[in-house]
Amino acid sequence: MADPEIRHMKWWGWGHEDVSFSDADKPKLWPYLSGELGLEQVEPTPPVKFDDVHLPAAKENAPFIAALRDALAHDQFSVDKKDRLIHAAGKAFRDLFRLRRGQVDFAPDLIVYPASEVDVVAIVKAAHEHNAVLIPFGGGTNIAGCIEPKDRDERFIVSLDMCRMHRVLAVDKKSLLARIEAGVYGPHMEEQLEAEGVTLGHFPDSFVHSTLGGWVATRSAGMQSDKYGKIEDMVIALRMVTPSGTIVTRTVPNTSNGIDVRSLCVGSEGILGVITEVTVQVHRLPERKMFEGWLFPDFESGIHAIHECMRHGTMPVITRLNDPGKTALSAAFKKVEPPLKQKIGAAMKWYLRNIKGIDFTKCCMMTTAYEGDYDTFHMQRRESNRVFRKHGGVNLGEGPGNSFKEAKYDFPHVRDYLMDRGVMGDVSETSTTWDNLHNLYTKTITNIQKAIRDTGVDPWVGCHISHNYHTGASLYFTFGCRQIEGRELDQYLYIKKAAEDSFLQNGGTVSHHHAVGTEHLPWIEADLSPAGLKAVRAIKDGLDPKSVMNPGKILPGPDPLREWGLTDETIQTFNKAD
Ligand code: FAD
Repeated sequence: MADPEIRHMKWWGWGHEDVSFSDADKPKLWPYLSGELGLEQVEPTPPVKFDDVHLPAAKENAPFIAALRDALAHDQFSVDKKDRLIHAAGKAFRDLFRLRRGQVDFAPDLIVYPASEVDVVAIVKAAHEHNAVLIPFGGGTNIAGCIEPKDRDERFIVSLDMCRMHRVLAVDKKSLLARIEAGVYGPHMEEQLEAEGVTLGHFPDSFVHSTLGGWVATRSAGMQSDKYGKIEDMVIALRMVTPSGTIVTRTVPNTSNGIDVRSLCVGSEGILGVITEVTVQVHRLPERKMFEGWLFPDFESGIHAIHECMRHGTMPVITRLNDPGKTALSAAFKKVEPPLKQKIGAAMKWYLRNIKGIDFTKCCMMTTAYEGDYDTFHMQRRESNRVFRKHGGVNLGEGPGNSFKEAKYDFPHVRDYLMDRGVMGDVSETSTTWDNLHNLYTKTITNIQKAIRDTGVDPWVGCHISHNYHTGASLYFTFGCRQIEGRELDQYLYIKKAAEDSFLQNGGTVSHHHAVGTEHLPWIEADLSPAGLKAVRAIKDGLDPKSVMNPGKILPGPDPLREWGLTDETIQTFNKAD
């Protein structure tokens, strides 16, 4: 069993077992969604009960267990049903859809809980010698099928849960570095860093339930990436245990030591080895921090404003710009307000419409945050606000910004809420250059909408921008629709394919920060080029010649689309719906 203080998420959805999402204080949410999605009547579709879930029988590998018996304590192994179920899948739509129905075709045969790098070395060595598959497990929050416990050769599968390796080992306040064990969850890591007066500055929406090792292995992006960068920009050095030995990179600010081995480990999604320790750059805690809301007349003016801030070096630490669809959804999220606040809200709306000429069908909400010492904070806010106003932005004050701050880790519960009501909700994200941003946005919105309509139902598609660069930005699409009973997964895959096809055909990439896993395999060769993929294969074969580390991820098989689950026949049946 795991440490008693370690709490995994519920097996069928987001959050701990005792946390659930309710729309009781959000009276506009269901009317908005049901109106958009054309849902007159909804049959509840709750998850099956735990007792009704049947796992495949656990396989055995006595030599592997025997090899580990001396190295690990009794409580570092688990074959408990709940544990196997929790480690059977991540949080992709397809994972949750199947789990909620009790369809568990693959589950790890064993879960191990290393408490040190020495334990990890022993586990990797035993797997290599005794033909067991190892799947590193951080928080299990990935949404790309990264931890699917499936092996083409049907070997014994071990989920290697890193949660006991959760210490910040050292903080160097002069060089601003922290050496941290890879299994630490976001809040526990920040608590330990804050005690030293520093922060990593990495806050993905999944922060509460994901781990440092998972972020590094998937090249994650947090909501403050405009200031702090993606996780790969924060990694200074790391240690990764592979079947061919332990990779150790030096703690230096930069180097010219040939091919960047550190970068080979970052984004390796568990297919090369287990990241045990990461040395990251950290920052002193900001003296001041503030969230605000802005309203732009349309998506393009918001994009121009962000781009200009980027060019002038006056980016806030957060700029999260919603398109009209996402703006309407976040408005529907609003909680019931006391009468006085409602009156102020109505007056503000009147002002925006009649004085500022805002069209509420086109306008776009942006959340911003500023932080730093007194001077940096004020300069950043003053300069970016000047640019926002120039592009027609209206400052809505701290209220909407603070609402975002309070609810930011609650949004992920919405997918379970939708799935309880027979609605599919999912996301696909990408990035592209500034000159192509609007083109990729409009084409992808159109392509996803068309794909949903092809399946015979009304679409809801929205997008936001939240990670910006000198040369471009990411686009994060959210989509939803009523599910077609009996064809839910075919329908989902058909729609997801439209999003990914659109990215690759229109100058985007397979994913900006959600990794490849299994969910993006059909597009990875087009993204990397055949020779690029050959390089990844060579590295995998070199470090892990028996392919014991998380097989089937990043590297596609011979017929990736079919392996992914979509056949030409299925595509044709939906295409005919045109
Ligand atoms: P897991 O899901 O456990 O594993 C992910 C991959 O990393 C697997 O391939 C696994 O084998 C490998 N891995 C994990 N730990 C190690 C290790 N120590 N060594 C080697 N390999 C390892 N992502 C973002 O980037 N930004 C977001 O804002 C964001 N928001 C999300 C919101 C929701 C609601 C959900 C469901 C997901 C979100 N994600 C986001 C995706 C997900 O949280 C990230 O991919 C995250 O980095 C995964 O971390 P994890 O610890 O949960 O890893």
